Amino acid sequence: MSLPKNAASSPGSWSFNCLHFLTISPLDFYNKPSMSLAGQLYRLQQIDLELQKKQQELKDVENQLSDDKALVATESKLASQSEQLGDARRKQKDSEWKLEDLQEKVKLIDSKLYSGTTKGAKELVNLEKEVKSLKSQIKTKEDALLGLMSQVEELEAKAKTTAEELEQLKREWQQRQETFGQKKSELEIALAKLGRDRDELAQQSDREALNTYERLRLTRGEAVVKVEKGRCLGCHVTVPTSQWQKVKAGDLIQCNNCNRIFYLE
Ligand SMILES: [Zn+2]
Repeated sequence: MSLPKNAASSPGSWSFNCLHFLTISPLDFYNKPSMSLAGQLYRLQQIDLELQKKQQELKDVENQLSDDKALVATESKLASQSEQLGDARRKQKDSEWKLEDLQEKVKLIDSKLYSGTTKGAKELVNLEKEVKSLKSQIKTKEDALLGLMSQVEELEAKAKTTAEELEQLKREWQQRQETFGQKKSELEIALAKLGRDRDELAQQSDREALNTYERLRLTRGEAVVKVEKGRCLGCHVTVPTSQWQKVKAGDLIQCNNCNRIFYLE
């Protein structure tokens, strides 16, 4: 596989060899003896990887904090069920009133019939007919009312279940806000600290080496790699002895094959 060569590392361009003496001061913030340029870049890469990881974590936490889909869906379900329940209750009330009216009418006719004030046979027959018709209407209304009552009961049970679900979701939401809110502030603090560490380290590093590092980070993901058993850990190709010696001597050397910067612990 032929990999595109990085312009900064191709033969004839600037060499890292002359940069190995550019080390950070022994009084640097790590309070360690002077670190090689490759060591600085390796440390920078560790910080960058940690920054990347924490930024992703922060994104996930923010998503968790703002994810209210279940809550919104259940709220809207409850609103719709409450509306249906309201309608059903109004229908039930309406049906009860109509039924009362019919019963009232029957009572009136009955009192007429049994008061003895109605004498005419035709009138009596008509009144009895009317009572019969009203009673039949009452029967129909009563059946309908029973249906409406069971509908109301069913809707009440559904709305109660949804209201309980909503309460549970609200408790979970609150819990999540507390847990993830705490996690968010911790991540923000850690990110700010990493950012400061990075700035400090970058300020102490060689500008040109930093640019090469940044380019490699973009194209290769991992810019600085360790050499293990004579092989580049970036591409696993054997490192020529001459290069290996230079790495050991503290020179800043890039892999001939993958361009990554070598680092020896
Ligand atoms: Zn390599």
